[in-house]
Amino acid sequence: MRIVLLGPPGAGKGTQAVLLAEKRGIPHISTGQMMRDAVSSGSDLGKKVKKFLDAGELVPDNLVIELIKERLSRADCRTGFLLDGFPRTLEQAKSLTVLLKSLNKELTHVIEITVPESVILERIKRRGETGSGRSDDNTEVASKRLQVYWAQTAPVSKYYQELGSLVEVNGLGTIEEVQSRIQGKI
Ligand code: AMP
Repeated sequence: MRIVLLGPPGAGKGTQAVLLAEKRGIPHISTGQMMRDAVSSGSDLGKKVKKFLDAGELVPDNLVIELIKERLSRADCRTGFLLDGFPRTLEQAKSLTVLLKSLNKELTHVIEITVPESVILERIKRRGETGSGRSDDNTEVASKRLQVYWAQTAPVSKYYQELGSLVEVNGLGTIEEVQSRIQGKI
């Protein structure tokens, strides 16, 4: 099972990804988490990407694509994987298609968690007030991430829609409700 989970910031994508990957016994690959780990380890990659994370902007495609190529080549991905936070641009989506093709593979599911924009804005505001512990979770950076999402990541959904592989799941409701809707699509 090779799954891509899409959705705007504040849609509950990370939470759903953890549950789904666990249930299906496949690695949960979060490029955001990989970036945050790189920043905290102080590696060269971390030094390069910190400013983008802090600003709520996307890390350059070449860095993320290299990272994903390496990650997907590891043994634990042989039986499948769940990508969370990748692809985030059309360029990344196309690179993923090419990469999988070169391995004679393709995605089995592309699932988008949809939540009305008004609800996302409300959630982002609340997260900013309560503080999730993520340094990019203040309201200002979160709003920037949402803008970036509409400008650069929304075309990714369209790309998969045109390929006929996009499945939408309503992201409103409890964590369990959303998870069972996702499971129902797989
Ligand atoms: P996330 O945890 O998925 O919300 O990602 C946190 C941050 O990591 C984003 O705001 C970006 O700065 C960076 N990031 C994560 N995934 C990608 C990606 N696929 N392309 C570019 N930047 C990314």
